[in-house]
Amino acid sequence: TKIAHVTAIEAGAEKALVKPDAHLDNALSSTAKHGMPPIQVSALQGQFLAIQARLIGAKTVLELGALGGYSTICLAKTGAKVTSIEIDPKHRDVASENLRVAGIEPDIILGDARSVLPELVREGRVFDMVFIDADWGQHADYFDWAVKLTRRNGCIFIDNVVQELITCHGGSVGEGTLIERVGAATNVTATLVPKITGKEGVVDNAFIDGFLLATVN
Ligand code: SAM
Repeated sequence: TKIAHVTAIEAGAEKALVKPDAHLDNALSSTAKHGMPPIQVSALQGQFLAIQARLIGAKTVLELGALGGYSTICLAKTGAKVTSIEIDPKHRDVASENLRVAGIEPDIILGDARSVLPELVREGRVFDMVFIDADWGQHADYFDWAVKLTRRNGCIFIDNVVQELITCHGGSVGEGTLIERVGAATNVTATLVPKITGKEGVVDNAFIDGFLLATVN
């Protein structure tokens, strides 16, 4: 089937394009060992984030949702200083340990992004890039805060927007959804990058999802 082709191409692309990385392997096995869910970005998506950070020369990145630090390591290895917000103390601890193993000094704020983001705005913090990968249903609010926290020509990357729309909003881009909110922002240019992978999944045996990428003008 076509899905089988997609699966094979994705697996082949990962094998061909992703170099082995002991620190990322350690983050994955440590996440599993601690009984945490395997919901980190894929290896190819981790590289997408790293490429994006390099393209804009990001020196500072704000990440919402650290889990075991997999995406944090992908981003930090570009040379950027990554600040993460993580609500779960266990995830914070595991991510910190995995970052240290990778030679990266952790900077993880323990707390709910809903209260930490306004605090960062009050403090006048500004980042080159914001990566939103926390709790579905809140991403529209997080986006508004992220715009305030991103420098001009910086970028905002939001994961799982298609799944979030299907799960939390009945599958349409209606009022109150993230995409509508992004469209209403006057100072951003944004696009939806849909993806279909052969991973075990939810729609016709394929995992359908997509991410939203925005620049702040
Ligand atoms: N970015 C990680 C990666 O790719 O390696 C995966 C992050 S995982 C999909 C989502 C994380 O967000 C979980 O660790 C969860 O505890 C955290 N989280 C959920 N709700 C949150 C909130 N309101 N504030 C901060 N973190 C939250």
